[in-house]
Amino acid sequence: MVDLTVRLELLMVSAQTTGLAENNTMTGLDPDYRHRTTLRFSWALLILFSIGAIGRLVVQHLPAALVWLGAVNVLVSLIVYLLIRSRRFPGAESTLVLVLCLFCTIPLYLGTGGVNSQYIYFMTLIPMMAALLGSVRLTWTVCIIQMLLLFLMFLFGEQIPDLTGYPYLEEKTRVRTVWLMLGVFIGSYFGVYFRKAYDEQSALLDKLAGIDHLTGLLNRRGLKSRLDEELQRSARSGSPLSVLMLDVDFFKQFNDKYGHAAGDECLIKVARCLRKQTRAEDIVSRYGGEEFLIVLINADVKETITVAEKLRHAITELSPVAGSAKISVTIGAASLPASEPLETLPHAEELIRQADEALYRGKEAGRNRVEVSQALSSASQRA
Ligand code: GH3
Ligand code: MG
Ligand code: MG
Repeated sequence: MVDLTVRLELLMVSAQTTGLAENNTMTGLDPDYRHRTTLRFSWALLILFSIGAIGRLVVQHLPAALVWLGAVNVLVSLIVYLLIRSRRFPGAESTLVLVLCLFCTIPLYLGTGGVNSQYIYFMTLIPMMAALLGSVRLTWTVCIIQMLLLFLMFLFGEQIPDLTGYPYLEEKTRVRTVWLMLGVFIGSYFGVYFRKAYDEQSALLDKLAGIDHLTGLLNRRGLKSRLDEELQRSARSGSPLSVLMLDVDFFKQFNDKYGHAAGDECLIKVARCLRKQTRAEDIVSRYGGEEFLIVLINADVKETITVAEKLRHAITELSPVAGSAKISVTIGAASLPASEPLETLPHAEELIRQADEALYRGKEAGRNRVEVSQALSSASQRA
């Protein structure tokens, strides 16, 4: 029977030691998805303004000023669409499209009766778009701009021309202002609420995608970004860094003899032991089935071998499941020597490959042992 408490404990330790628990800087939308959504929205605006401009010419007989305004809107939205498509301003695309919304709609309101304009209904949609495409701050900014605008249009209602020719009614304007303000506020509030909930869920999914569900350790995906970070840090600070590739010996036989559930429990115990026997800053991950990869931060060659032997020994002491035989592991070690310059920095894959190759030699040589990679051996000779 798999011990769920152990798994939960490991999951929490893992989230803490990997820094995932504190990392809230992740954005809910990945940049590429955000770009595509913004581009699609700006395309929709371009179509909308084009239809509006053509419609004004065909259906209604409106003053030339409104027709020109429609033409300007089409031109500006085309420019914004092309700018977004060119990916020239990756960080400002949502702001750009929201500014376009305001730029195109405000003159329309001001030429067609302000609060009484037939275009005024767009006001409640714009903050929702800000929340969907942009950020919480952008949404509230758009909300405040529109509320202020509504208030000013109410104050100067009588002076605002209506080129569509409808009469100005004071009481109707007052009531519409109140409901529109409420609509804009509620639209913004729900937009922000949705946006925050979406970001939280995305961040959580991102965390979980980097964690192995059985052991609670980082999985290969979670390890990758952490190892890249540590390699860079090690090269900058000139401190050594090592990786250990650890594989449980004859695990297939263990599964065959005691069952898959016992095998799972055994893996959980190995994970727990590895976490316990390493420092909080070291990275412990489940690399594959019964393979674990450990990154030892700031560990020189001598220390790496000592730690590897300590881990190997600790695992032989484990009781995987009641009444089962003891298990052993073979460990391959590879190291990034101290003061490795950034230009010659090996990729994470290369370091892992070296450790894997050492592990393979350890298996060939009879298992239950620590083997160091050739690169590590030569580094130790240099040291
Ligand atoms: P070696 O000493 O050469 O490593 O032999 P081995 O039997 O450990 O290696 P092999 O690659 O032949 O078998 C690995 C086994 O690990 C087979 C697979 O069923 C088992 N395994 C992989 N993932 C899991 C898991 O999540 N749970 C359990 N119970 N077993 C797993
Ligand atoms: Mg294996
Ligand atoms: Mg194995």
